Amino acid sequence: MKHLTSRSVPILGVPVHAVTMADTLAVVQQFMAEPGLHQVATVNPEFVMAAQEDADFRHVLQQADLCLADGVGLLLAGRWLGTPLPERVPGSELVYHLARLAAEEGWRLFLLGAGPGVAEEAAAVFQDLYPGLAIAGSYAGSPDPAENEAIVRHINDSAADILYVAYGAPNQDKWIARNREALRTVRMAIGVGGALDFVTGRAARAPRWLQRLGLEWLHRLIREPWRWRRMLALPRFVWRVLVAEIRD
Ligand code: UDP
Repeated sequence: MKHLTSRSVPILGVPVHAVTMADTLAVVQQFMAEPGLHQVATVNPEFVMAAQEDADFRHVLQQADLCLADGVGLLLAGRWLGTPLPERVPGSELVYHLARLAAEEGWRLFLLGAGPGVAEEAAAVFQDLYPGLAIAGSYAGSPDPAENEAIVRHINDSAADILYVAYGAPNQDKWIARNREALRTVRMAIGVGGALDFVTGRAARAPRWLQRLGLEWLHRLIREPWRWRRMLALPRFVWRVLVAEIRD
């Protein structure tokens, strides 16, 4: 079957798929109908900059089945490079859409990662919103390789169909790639970053007007100022994209 995901836009070596939120849900339906685990990544400028130095992470993103544009910076880069992307597909919104689809389709959802108790609480929020949703499991664990085998066994025993991994990038995406073969029942796994913290109200998303202005990153910087060093990736990203375009 030909996926809707065939068109991807290379942004500094990271393929970002030109899909809308609606396309994404249609692609996930296709993934779920096929055997094997399909990996989805929610790419933002921090991912792209980390992938410049981390070849392992870059490879993980290149072999993922779907890389979504999670961040206005990617949309601007796509436009600047002459290969526009249709819209943002934020992981923090996708986690709701996928949970709703899972409830409708009877897919079993497993929530892995985040701080103590967060995955359980997020599972309860989703079940309240989408009655009938089957939660295969929820477990914080850690991306530490020492825990890998036990976590994979736990997920396999739960017969999960969909897996959210909230270990932050790049650990979550590497974790999924590393366990692609070992996870026997999961057909779609997605790294969701801090999305479960938003779902449980531990972190607040930017107000809509700021989101519309493309300033969600500014809200995050003000709320979580300790991120400033990581967020230097943003101006570095803009600079690299401008230079890449001028050179070509
Ligand atoms: N996290 C975790 N274990 C770790 C590191 C991080 O469970 O060893 C969780 C953390 O609690 C948070 C999530 O990973 O819920 C992602 O955090 P962050 O917001 O930094 O990720 P980003 O959205 O920036 O990728």
